[in-house]
Amino acid sequence: MTITGEALIGGHAVRGNGGSFQAFDPSTRAPIEPAFHMVDAGQIDEACRLAEAAFDPFRATSNEARATFLETIAAQILELGDELIVRAMTESGLPRARLEGERGRTMGQLKLFADLLREGSWADVRIDSALPDRQPLPRPDLRLRMIGLGPVAVFAASNFPLAFSVAGGDTAAALAAGCPVVLKAHSAHPGTSELVARAVVKAIELCKLPAGVFALLTGTGNGIGQGLVAHPSIKAVGFTGSRSGGQALMGVAAARAQPIPVYAEMSSINPFFLMPEALAARGEQIATAFAASMTMGVGQFCTNPGLVLGLKGPEFDRFAEKAAQALSSIEAGTMLTAGIASAYQSGVHKLAQHEAVDALKEATHTEGKGGPALFRTSGKAFLTEQALHGEIFGPASLLVACDSVDEMRAITESLEGQLTATVQMDEGDTELVRALLPVLERKVGRILANGMPTGVEVSTAMVHGGPFPATSDGRSSSVGTAAIQRFLRPVCYQNLAQSLLPDVLRDDNEGVWRRRDGALTKA
Ligand code: NAP
Repeated sequence: MTITGEALIGGHAVRGNGGSFQAFDPSTRAPIEPAFHMVDAGQIDEACRLAEAAFDPFRATSNEARATFLETIAAQILELGDELIVRAMTESGLPRARLEGERGRTMGQLKLFADLLREGSWADVRIDSALPDRQPLPRPDLRLRMIGLGPVAVFAASNFPLAFSVAGGDTAAALAAGCPVVLKAHSAHPGTSELVARAVVKAIELCKLPAGVFALLTGTGNGIGQGLVAHPSIKAVGFTGSRSGGQALMGVAAARAQPIPVYAEMSSINPFFLMPEALAARGEQIATAFAASMTMGVGQFCTNPGLVLGLKGPEFDRFAEKAAQALSSIEAGTMLTAGIASAYQSGVHKLAQHEAVDALKEATHTEGKGGPALFRTSGKAFLTEQALHGEIFGPASLLVACDSVDEMRAITESLEGQLTATVQMDEGDTELVRALLPVLERKVGRILANGMPTGVEVSTAMVHGGPFPATSDGRSSSVGTAAIQRFLRPVCYQNLAQSLLPDVLRDDNEGVWRRRDGALTKA
C-alpha cells in the first residue's frame, strides 16, 4: 500500500491544507519519505461534523455488527503484512519482535471488545418494574441502559505505535461503545498511522458503515489537537503522552461551552517495594529481573519501575550493587524521538547533579539513544525533595534507602497517583504488606505481588489507570474491557411503551444479563 502523506476524512484520502512535515528515523535521524500534509481548521471541522452525523446510525448498529466491524479492522491490519512492521520499525526504532507482538496485541484488543459486545452485559441493563399499587405513591416502570457519549478524539501515543495508536485500545473501546473516532496521529509515526487508518477505512467500507465513523488527522504542533478537543461535535478525549500535553488538553476541554471528559494517561513512576524477607532471601535475583524490566523497550513504558523502596542495610546494598552490575551490560538503545531522548538525557543529568543523590550507574548516551541509569538517595531526602519525585521517561530508576518501615509508609503517602505498585514479598512480609495495602489502594490502579510492572495483560480484570497524574481520571482503565466505560453514559426510560424501547430493554429480549428488580438475571 502506498503511503501518500494524506489525512483520511469521510472515507477519502485528503491532502492536508496546512504545511507539511516529515517523519524521522530515530536511529539515523534521517527524514523518511514521503512528506505529510497537515490538516487545517476547516478539515478538522469536516472530520468532526462527519463523526457527529455518523453517531446515531453507528450506535444504532447491533452488537453483532460492531463486533464484526472490530474483527474486520483486525483482519485488515494483518492484511497490511510486513509493510506495516517495517514502517513502524523505521519510524519508532523499535525492534521487529516487539512490533510483531504489538500488532498481535492490537488485534487481540479488537477481538476482546468484539467478544464483549457479543456477550452484551456492557450495556448494564437495569429494569425496575412498575409498582402501580405502591403506597403512598406508585412506582413507574424504569429501565436503564448505557449509550455512547458521542464522537471521541483519540491521540495516538508515541511509545505504542500500534497498540495505543490509530486502532489501539482507546479507539477499540470507543468504537465498541458506538462512538465515532477522530484520531490525531502522532507526528513521530505518521506513516504507520496512515497504513492502519487505511485498514480501518477499508473495514468501514466492507461493513457498510457511515464513512464518518473514523477519521485520521495528520500534522504536528498543538493547534490540531487543541482544535480537535475544542470542537463542539467531540464529546470525549482519549490521550496517552506527556503530563504537559495531557494537562493542556484538559484545560481546553474544561474551557469549552460544553466541557467534556478527558481520559489522559500521563505520568507514573511505579514504585517497586523490596520487603525485608524477600530482599534477604532473593535480593540478587530480584535485582536482575528488575534491571531487565526497567530497560525493556529502552524504559519507554508507562509502567516502567522508576522508584525502588527498601530498608537500608547490607541486603539493600547488595540489591543496588547487583542491579547496577546487571545494568552495566545493557547498552544504550535508540529512543522513540529526538525529543524524548533529549528529555531523558536532561532528566538523568539533573538527577545525577542533585546533592542528595548518588549515581550507581551513570547513563552513557549518544545522540538519540538512552543508556540505563541507576541512582540512590535516602528516605529522608526523598521526603523533603520534591524534585526527586518526577518521572524520567526512559531506562532510569531511583533507589530509596529507608530508615524504617514507618518511613517507607510515609514516602508511599507522599507519592502522587501511580499506574502500578509492585511489592516483592515472601510469606514473612505478609503483615507489612497488609499494613501498606490501604495506602497503595489510594495511590495506584494496579498492585502486583512478585512480578514486574512492565507487561500489561489485556483482559477483563485489568486496570491501567490510577489517580492523577497517572491519569486525569482515576475512575477508569485504558486497557481491557473496562475501558469501554469511559465512553458510555446511562439513559433511563420511564414508562415508555415496549414498542418505543430500545431492543435491549424490552421484556422479550432474554438471554442478555440484566438487573431486574435488583437481581441479576438473563430472564
Ligand atoms: P506528547 O508530547 O504529550 O504528545 C502526545 C500527542 O499530543 C501528540 O500528538 C502531540 O502532538 C500532542 N500534544 C502534545 N502537547 C500538546 C498540547 N499542548 N496541545 C495539543 N496537543 C499536544 O507525548 P510524547 O511525544 O508521546 O512523549 C513525550 C513525553 O510523554 C515522554 O517524554 C513521557 O514523559 C511522556 N509519555 C508518557 C507516557 C505514559 O503513559 N505515562 C507514554 C508516552 C509518553 P505532536 O504529534 O504534534 O507532537
